Amino acid sequence: MQIERRDFLSTLSLAGAATLFSGHSLLASTNPKKEKLGIALVGLGYYSTDLLAPALQMTEKCHLAGIVTGTPSKAEAWKTKYNIPDKNIYNYQNFDKIADNPDIDIVYVVLPPSMHREFVVRAAKAGKHVFCEKPMAPSVADCEAMIAACKASKVKLAIGYRCQHDPNIQAYMKVAKDQKFGKVKMVNSAAGYFDARTDHWKQKKSLGGGVMGDMGVYALQGARLATGEEPISVIAQASTTRPEIYKEVEETMMFMLDFPSGARAACQTSFGINMNYLQVSYEKGWLKLEPQSGYSGNKGSMSDGTIINFPIKSQQAKQMDEDCLAILNNTDLIAPGEEGLRDIRVVEAIYKSVASGKSVRI
Ligand code: NAD
Repeated sequence: MQIERRDFLSTLSLAGAATLFSGHSLLASTNPKKEKLGIALVGLGYYSTDLLAPALQMTEKCHLAGIVTGTPSKAEAWKTKYNIPDKNIYNYQNFDKIADNPDIDIVYVVLPPSMHREFVVRAAKAGKHVFCEKPMAPSVADCEAMIAACKASKVKLAIGYRCQHDPNIQAYMKVAKDQKFGKVKMVNSAAGYFDARTDHWKQKKSLGGGVMGDMGVYALQGARLATGEEPISVIAQASTTRPEIYKEVEETMMFMLDFPSGARAACQTSFGINMNYLQVSYEKGWLKLEPQSGYSGNKGSMSDGTIINFPIKSQQAKQMDEDCLAILNNTDLIAPGEEGLRDIRVVEAIYKSVASGKSVRI
């Protein structure tokens, strides 16, 4: 059954490729249902409930087809609210049976980071394309295993970097690419919020908690995307003002990155401070964005008077539609597993720097 499913998926990709050349949809004539890919959300916590499920009511290339949850009461509530048939509802134990379900094309893993690897690998083995939330996983080894599993099953792996689908973020990436103001000299990048929770996975090491993987990847992405380069060394310092809550992981991380061109970045992330901005100083100008990684309203300006303020209805809907188009047309994803891995390489180096108190080469 699994093999038949893969055959079907490769037919889908072929149909998508044919669409590129013929200019009209082969899929539409062969399988009209598959104009919209079916997504199963794994983990029905805050992000699935408040952002992804509502976004899936706006998407054009995919729809909410199934759920995977460990909580039977959530299954009941979601089944009613989103009209999900019983046959598309799984728990963590029977999840692998999803291989036999043609309604599900994509599994979207929205669990605590320590669980990402297991569910991405199981989804890939079931022959499903995979979307995985950030941070991709707690370690480089995990990320590499996830990428390898998806490659082995010939399925795509997209990381939920919604901002990379936001035209306001793409605007500053283009400034770096075009060298509009010359070379980048200095970046200041911050992302944090005050988290009032006192007993959550974000405060537990074993579940992949700590601010660095959580909000820290936004600060890091700000620096990486604004320079268009990968950092070569980092020095970092972790701290907490609430040691009774942040016993196992850091509440705040400050890190400085060096880039090959000579650009430097000072980055901050925290579960104790509301902050969200990006400032870039170039040879011949500057750019500012605040907020830089909001769900909406990311906006800013440049030294030549250019305003960055593109409207966007739903980042998550745009992200999922664009990732589905990449699956249907067999084209490159905006943020594939390799992009998640790039961040986690830096995150690992940051923790090494905290432990040694020294600068670490990446
Ligand atoms: P959450 O705590 O609200 O939900 C986590 C879900 O995992 C819950 O349904 C919970 O029941 C389930 N779960 C299963 N096993 C668990 C365990 N052992 N401990 C705790 N929960 C367990 O978390 P969330 O905020 O929805 O985050 C989930 C993922 O989504 C994380 O990777 C997070 O970084 C990511 N996220 C991304 C964005 C974004 O903007 N892209 C925003 C928020 C969260």
